Amino acid sequence: MNNYINGKWQEIGTGHYTAVLNPATGEEIAQVRLSSTKDVDTAVSAAKRAQKEWALVPAPKRADYLYEIGRVMKEKKEHLARVLTTEMGKVIEEARGEVQEGIDMAFYMAGEGRRMFGETVPSELQDKFAMSVRAPIGVVGLITPWNFPVAIATWKSFPAIVAGNTFIWKPATETPLMAFEMAKVFDEVGLPKGVANIVFGAGAEVGTALIEHPDVRVISFTGSTETGRHVAETGGRHLKKVSLEMGGKNAVIVMEDADIELAVEGILWSAFGTAGQRCTACSRVIVHKDVKAELEQKLLKAMKPLTIGNGLDESVKIGPVINQKALEKIASYVEIGKQEGAKLLAGGEILKEGVLSKGHYYAPTLFSDVRWDSRLAQEEIFGPVISLIEVESLEEAIDVNNSVVYGLSSSIFSKDINKVFQAQRDLDTGIVYVNAGTTGAEIHLPFGGTKGTGNGHRDSGVAALDVFTEWKSIYVDFSGKLQRAQIDNS
Ligand code: NAD
Repeated sequence: MNNYINGKWQEIGTGHYTAVLNPATGEEIAQVRLSSTKDVDTAVSAAKRAQKEWALVPAPKRADYLYEIGRVMKEKKEHLARVLTTEMGKVIEEARGEVQEGIDMAFYMAGEGRRMFGETVPSELQDKFAMSVRAPIGVVGLITPWNFPVAIATWKSFPAIVAGNTFIWKPATETPLMAFEMAKVFDEVGLPKGVANIVFGAGAEVGTALIEHPDVRVISFTGSTETGRHVAETGGRHLKKVSLEMGGKNAVIVMEDADIELAVEGILWSAFGTAGQRCTACSRVIVHKDVKAELEQKLLKAMKPLTIGNGLDESVKIGPVINQKALEKIASYVEIGKQEGAKLLAGGEILKEGVLSKGHYYAPTLFSDVRWDSRLAQEEIFGPVISLIEVESLEEAIDVNNSVVYGLSSSIFSKDINKVFQAQRDLDTGIVYVNAGTTGAEIHLPFGGTKGTGNGHRDSGVAALDVFTEWKSIYVDFSGKLQRAQIDNS
């Protein structure tokens, strides 16, 4: 697979390639280019040339391309979902959901082509008009992770282009196939050359080259907090606008008055969906002492029938994790949990039996009696591991939820409206769910987190436009004379 630059599949120089592996089977499914700084330079030049003209295309016309992109993605939905499962591992039902998220984003952002509201406000001076408009910024760099290979890219690239920017997208090294598929979609709808550019390769090389490039004005990054810090530091040195969406350690709170059956369903879906590798995955369950034993027993019962295997098999509920390194990280956290004195109730092992032997599978795992301040309860594991933490009150539950460095998603199960409203006010996360698990964001609301999860920006929703536009305030004086604000009218 070669880079998509200026509307063409480009190979510059000899280049190096690396294998892309199916995490369910270990099979090689593609060879992808490991690009260099030179590839980034070429892509940025193309994007810069294209941006001048693209910015002059009326926004509703730019939006027409997005309507077409949404339509083509809809037509290809099943194909895209199968490619997604093959390269990333999530089960096919979730892959279809992720592609749908991209389709929804295309139509939603296309609508922004006829909105993109600014303000018109009265001027303090007579015969003067005052307004603000959203202006495009220029060439933007998008750096995305492997766990949502298409949805996250659409959260970033669609608002970027509807607002009149052009972009260079660097997908994760593990999941280039969805980017390749999206380039085909951009090509098919005739998106003008240079508006969308994709450069494959390693973060340290391609990502850094993008961040340091003087003609790239915005970096929108999603990935780990560790990498995000590096992106922010490098971007800061170059005075770039940097939007960061990073790690999470999300919790479900189960109060004594909760519908326990419903809580069990919500916990399983958000903890084991995508094998626990969603940024919003439930990793902690904070449970009131009065219902802890019941919840434990019901969770164990519900975990038993979960089928594990290749996500292309419709009957499978939990797919593989992304690679051997991820498997080792999960296993190491399970060891840490045991050493810290947490009680392992289920799972806790790498699965190697039969057809699972070639892929990267970890058994759904449940720990109980986890201390809120232990490493198991504080650090991002990114695998199918739940830690049960017992509390005695809502206030304690909220404190435990807020004790981590992250602030992405949280949830509360309770039938008491007073508790629910107190929780949604006091939970320090960018997303709060009531009587649902920690996952399930819809694209027309802002997506992102507080504290170590983000730096105040949001993906998705209208809020995404804030990342990809500058506010321009415009004053039109039609008095025919010099009028001085704050002086002539005071
Ligand atoms: P990662 O940080 O390893 O990589 C993310 C991207 O950054 C990849 O494209 C990678 O190639 C690139 N990168 C790596 N080193 C770089 C560098 N030095 N300079 C520039 N770019 C570099 O993350 P990952 O393992 O791909 O994804 C998992 C992480 O992403 C988890 O921590 C998860 O919580 C987080 N995530 C967050 C959200 C959110 O919206 N908050 C969503 C999805 C995933």
